[in-house]
Amino acid sequence: MIHKKVWGKKLGFILIPKFCLIFLIGLTVLFTPLAVAKDLTLTIVYDNNSYNKELETRWGFSCLVEGLEKTILFDVGGEGSVLLKNMKKLKIDPDTVDVILLSHIHYDHIGGLPDFLVKNPDVAVYMPRSLPQSVKDEVKNAGARLIEVHKSMEICKNAYSTGELGFWIKEQSLIIKTSKGLVIITGCAHPGVVDIVKKAKKMLKTETYLVLGGFHLCWMNAWQIKGIINGVRKEGVEKVAPCHCSGDLARKEFKKVYGKDFTLVGAGKKIKIKDAF
Ligand SMILES: [Zn+2]
Ligand SMILES: [Zn+2]
Repeated sequence: MIHKKVWGKKLGFILIPKFCLIFLIGLTVLFTPLAVAKDLTLTIVYDNNSYNKELETRWGFSCLVEGLEKTILFDVGGEGSVLLKNMKKLKIDPDTVDVILLSHIHYDHIGGLPDFLVKNPDVAVYMPRSLPQSVKDEVKNAGARLIEVHKSMEICKNAYSTGELGFWIKEQSLIIKTSKGLVIITGCAHPGVVDIVKKAKKMLKTETYLVLGGFHLCWMNAWQIKGIINGVRKEGVEKVAPCHCSGDLARKEFKKVYGKDFTLVGAGKKIKIKDAF
């Protein structure tokens, strides 16, 4: 009897872990494809600074964001024909874009919209509520979905708009929450790049990893630019990639301060953030 009891216990001890092991392996196999980390890719499609010499440069800005639930085109540059030509050279199919986010009213950020909507009207267009009715009608008449942004909001998982910021020129920026921190994309940063970073931090309670886009410093002198750089650093921004209206002087000064954490970007430059989600 005693012998039987001991044997039974032993059997139970072996059987349960085996069952658990098979169950765990099953779960791992089932969920592994979902757990694979995704990269975030930012491609500058349109900029007045050159990077890939095959692309055309014009005053303006547009950046494609890939790796999120939705593919987002942030701003569309000033000339639709240049935007589409650059996309073609970069082998970006306009049909892959799900969302267009327009930062602010200036032509060099929204001018390419009608031509893009001819190629792909099946998009949701997020624009500041303050934009004129004519731009809103352009979206509606093309058959695209219009979303008027006023307060900060979620666009899709891990992507947010700051909402309309600033007084004279209302502008929204895009915030992407990654495993490394926030990635912020600015159009012209008319509300001030430091204030945009502050807003993003307040919204998502996360530090900023990278700020990319126009910082609107091209009209400032070196002393003023240094003040802005100090502000950006004070906010804990790890990496910077100023382009468009940032100006050459500001890019030089940022490079001096940020060193290897400064990225020189222009039309055609791709930035990949590994295992971002
Ligand atoms: Zn601009
Ligand atoms: Zn502007």
